[in-house]
Amino acid sequence: MAIPIITVSNLVKDYDNFRAVKGISFEVQEGEIFGLLGPNGAGKSTTLEIIETLRKKTSGTVTVAGFNLDERPDEIKSIIGVQLQASGYYPGLSLLQLVDLFAGLYNQQVNAMELLKTVNLEEKAKAKFKDLSGGQKQRFSVATTLINKPKVVFLDEPTTGLDPQARRNLWELIRKINGEGTTVIITTHYMDEAEYLCNRIAIVDSGEIVALDTPDNLIDHLVASGFERPKQVKKANLEDVFIQLTGKNLRED
Ligand code: ADP
Ligand code: MG
Repeated sequence: MAIPIITVSNLVKDYDNFRAVKGISFEVQEGEIFGLLGPNGAGKSTTLEIIETLRKKTSGTVTVAGFNLDERPDEIKSIIGVQLQASGYYPGLSLLQLVDLFAGLYNQQVNAMELLKTVNLEEKAKAKFKDLSGGQKQRFSVATTLINKPKVVFLDEPTTGLDPQARRNLWELIRKINGEGTTVIITTHYMDEAEYLCNRIAIVDSGEIVALDTPDNLIDHLVASGFERPKQVKKANLEDVFIQLTGKNLRED
């Protein structure tokens, strides 16, 4: 039996007169990779930040690992991993120093070098955050979510702006983290990414969930409704061509 690690019921968020989240409900099962997809402004980040205890909700109920958001926000904070905004990283500190700093804030004992190894950044241990490439910055920010050995990790558009190699590299990292038992909630605008990574997906539009299922079922339902692509699909796409020609190895990612 799947156990929900996150339960969201009738969640509403108003920004002044604007209702950004309109009473959504969903559950995330322990151990899954759960995707929130939707156009810009759909309310994905708002929803995540409320669950992460970083933003106040207007109404509704949220529980994480059995802790009610209204009553036990500190317990929730202690078992989740959240990516900081890039501005949260002191530019003059090395990655090792930053990990030690965050570990101190979380009151955790962490082997900083081991942690950097898990995200393939051991060679950059002494580099400053500001001197990393886009993909390296993203990998480092994923590493910082793991410092407190969380049960649930939240990743809000972790691969936006990365080249195809760096994107695939991050997919494998996310799978590895999930494979070690961590539940992952991710938002993305890349449908191939969602299809590859997510066990289940909620599609959010204008603050409402319009579909929630496995990628396979979502596609099967559309096909069953009589949908057909307007032209015959080729056996490869342009991204396949790009990867075939330039390889999967990371560059200055
Ligand atoms: P998404 O992450 O899906 O792109 P957001 O959750 O960031 O969407 O935003 C949902 C809606 O709420 C958008 O229309 C956005 O402009 C609005 N919004 C987000 N944050 C604020 C805020 N702090 N004040 C007012 N409106 C906001
Ligand atoms: Mg967002």
